[in-house]
Amino acid sequence: MSLDGLGEFDLISRITARVQPGHGVVTGIGDDAAVTGLTTGMQLLSSTDMLLEDVHFRRCWHDPYLLGRKSLAVSISDIASMGGLPRWSLLSLAIPPDIPLVFLDEFTRGYLAMSAEQGVALIGGDTCASRSGLTISVTILGEQAPGLVVRRSGARPGNEIWVTGTLGDAAMGLKLLEQRPPPHPGEAWGEGEKTLLSRLLDPTPRSAVGLALAGSGLVTAMIDISDGVLADFGHIAEMSAVGGTLQLNSLPVSAHFRSAARAFPAFPHQLVLSGGEDYELCFTASASDREKITRLLKKCGVAGMPVGIVTSSPEVLVIDAEGAPYHSENQGFNHFA
Ligand code: ADP
Ligand code: MG
Repeated sequence: MSLDGLGEFDLISRITARVQPGHGVVTGIGDDAAVTGLTTGMQLLSSTDMLLEDVHFRRCWHDPYLLGRKSLAVSISDIASMGGLPRWSLLSLAIPPDIPLVFLDEFTRGYLAMSAEQGVALIGGDTCASRSGLTISVTILGEQAPGLVVRRSGARPGNEIWVTGTLGDAAMGLKLLEQRPPPHPGEAWGEGEKTLLSRLLDPTPRSAVGLALAGSGLVTAMIDISDGVLADFGHIAEMSAVGGTLQLNSLPVSAHFRSAARAFPAFPHQLVLSGGEDYELCFTASASDREKITRLLKKCGVAGMPVGIVTSSPEVLVIDAEGAPYHSENQGFNHFA
């Protein structure tokens, strides 16, 4: 069955029927606007993201359940990078009429599974028909106390630049998909490759660690790494009116990445620096707080390490193992570049 026969309202009902009650939700889906109670003294953090078919995802690569999860995960990542607690979401869909109903049901199941895991309530959205591809737009709302919100603008010369997790896995996953396209991906992948693919197709937002870092008061600036650490630290640098030096050989890569990298003529540093879609956090903090941050990350069960230093000169440089500047061909993903 496709969506042709169903209509907008039946479609909304199929989503609404599965929505769980959420924190602070006074009136959820069904009225002209949702009503939510805000926690006293907190500020509201709001962010919105679009995912377009054949720009951000391909229906032949992205399983609908995972696409549902990822649609919310990437928005939660924006709240995490501000050190906020994600609370509520709005989901807008422009759906080509030929999409099978099971696709939408699976998408919804994935979206609501991520909602439940992250404590985010779906409180509304919009649904319409699309004449060219599936468009998914997610608005996320979160909360944080005014003094604890972490911006891009607070990095100071001498601060250390940190990243969580490993970089480049999602970009390597994309390379694998490009080299060995479906229809039968499940049969073709080894365990390590599956891990790389899941970094691309099913990212985990760093919400708990983002919140803990904000709560510690130790972090001077933070951003989520969606376009590669080079570009995303570049945003911190610009907003903080500083520069930075990234140590190429300090950038954390996974064992799975290293093993997939053997198929390349030279080690693919580009994927680590500018691959995108890692959804890890990049943050800056005083070098004297290194031990405290290490302990905090350990407590959160998330790996993280310093990868460079904030400088007063405005350039962002990458330095190789010999101390020589490494020239990056690509500064990260840019839609209009
Ligand atoms: P309106 O005509 O006032 O815009 P809609 O018919 O678009 O109302 O939506 C009816 C209700 O269903 C609203 O509460 C809206 O937030 C919700 N809604 C619509 N589409 C979605 C969706 N894709 N996911 C969640 N809620 C939705
Ligand atoms: Mg509407």
